[in-house]
Amino acid sequence: MIRKSLLKEFREKVGSENVFTDKADLFTYAYDAAVLDPVLPAAALRPVTSEALSHVVRLCNENRIPLTVRGAGTNLSGGTIPFPDDGVVVLTNTLNRILEINEADMYAVVQPGVVTAKLAAAVEAKGLFYPPDPGSQDVSTLAGNVAENAGGLRGLKYGITRDYVMGIQFFDVNGELVKTGSRTVKCATGYNLGGLMIGSEGTLGIFNEIILKLIPFPASQKAMVAVFDKLDKASETVAGIIASRIVPATLEFMDNFTIRAVEDFSHVGLPTDAAALLLIEFDGHPAPVVEDAEKVESLCRKNGATSVRVAKDASERDSVWAARRSALSALANLKPTLVLEDATVPRSKIPDMVRAMQNIAEEYNISIGTFGHAGDGNLHPTILTDRRDKTEWERVESAIAAIFDRALELGGTLSGEHGTGIAKSAFLEKETGMAAINYSKRVKGALDPNNILNPGKVIGD
Ligand SMILES: Cc1cc2nc3c(=O)[nH]c(=O)nc-3n(C[C@H](O)[C@H](O)[C@H](O)COP(=O)(O)OP(=O)(O)OC[C@H]3O[C@@H](n4cnc5c(N)ncnc54)[C@H](O)[C@@H]3O)c2cc1C
Repeated sequence: MIRKSLLKEFREKVGSENVFTDKADLFTYAYDAAVLDPVLPAAALRPVTSEALSHVVRLCNENRIPLTVRGAGTNLSGGTIPFPDDGVVVLTNTLNRILEINEADMYAVVQPGVVTAKLAAAVEAKGLFYPPDPGSQDVSTLAGNVAENAGGLRGLKYGITRDYVMGIQFFDVNGELVKTGSRTVKCATGYNLGGLMIGSEGTLGIFNEIILKLIPFPASQKAMVAVFDKLDKASETVAGIIASRIVPATLEFMDNFTIRAVEDFSHVGLPTDAAALLLIEFDGHPAPVVEDAEKVESLCRKNGATSVRVAKDASERDSVWAARRSALSALANLKPTLVLEDATVPRSKIPDMVRAMQNIAEEYNISIGTFGHAGDGNLHPTILTDRRDKTEWERVESAIAAIFDRALELGGTLSGEHGTGIAKSAFLEKETGMAAINYSKRVKGALDPNNILNPGKVIGD
């Protein structure tokens, strides 16, 4: 419960129409895209100015009210579940203006709630490119992307959100505006506080403005779909493409389970009898694009692809990528509960990881569809289940632990892009060891002594 007098203060700062306390409204903010129990916040606040956002953070700290900041709530790690239940959810999705697109110096300045695809489209209209493209880009916010260090389909060639953050302005727990980074390509001034904020999942500060690097839009693009009758042939081709020193913009993998679900959902003509597909795209200047595409096409055929179809025009290309982006929604249609994992391995270990997933599905007698950013070593084993079935759910939990163990044995990481949140915090020690957790706790303790910023996330309590 929040004191009436404090609610009154929140109303004065953000406007009554932006303070929500009705249960029905609050339920919307009790979830995110992870499969975790909902937690109802005591209130949700929607500051529509930076000043109001600053006041909200300060008031929460002064009154020891846990604060969970939320963009679009699409994260897959429980990062916006407002834990514990006496806290507030702060919505930054209406702080959604693109403040500047600087064509001469190739950067953009955005408010936290700008939707990723909106920025991408706005800069593309000026011949510029913002490459990070999480599958959720039509709804996810840029602050959410930075706070999760989101990846996407183009991570292989272009890197991830971290590689495009030039500066962040954020509110510390006292509501003071902290500026870090700059509009310059290089900036070696002061500590790299932006580095600390990227991937901080709302636990260290609340973003108010972000400066993002832009690059020239590629002059040409070519996409292809390679069809395989054996899973191993496809996964070995991924490792082969990387080993041949060719870097496609995108190199995505889909197993038969996913292909069938996607085709059922989006009807783009994917071969439903294929054991696996690779969706590959090249971009850049036309000549190397053609050369690389030819080399990879012949490599796919040499590795046993039964067919390789090159998209004949932009619309065919777009439909392939739209189908790929629908994979999660398509799979989600099949069963009441979907658990999407993102354990990631060094790229050469993709064949081992794909085999491990098949073995784990068999061992625990569960359905796992696998798709994802294979070129980054970042597969998305997707478990389809029904959480109400207690015995199956126990097997699912054991399978998830087995996926993490195998990824770590192969030299990988628990999360390639979805962050730690609540979902993975219990496993963190397995990867980082206690020293890293203790160090992180000291950082958190110093920056947020009352532990009000998204408590319980990443490093637990
Ligand atoms: C269908 C689907 C596909 C997806 N595909 C991908 C993918 O390809 N790659 C990928 O990386 N992820 C993917 N995701 C996960 C998710 O979309 C990303 O993590 C995304 O970055 C979350 O953005 P959001 O705006 O929804 O953030 P939210 O879920 O609202 O928040 C995420 C985290 O950011 C923090 N946060 C939000 N706003 C602020 C702020 N102003 N200041 C400080 N912290 C803040 C929150 O507290 C939380 O910890 C996918 C999710 C779905 C549902």
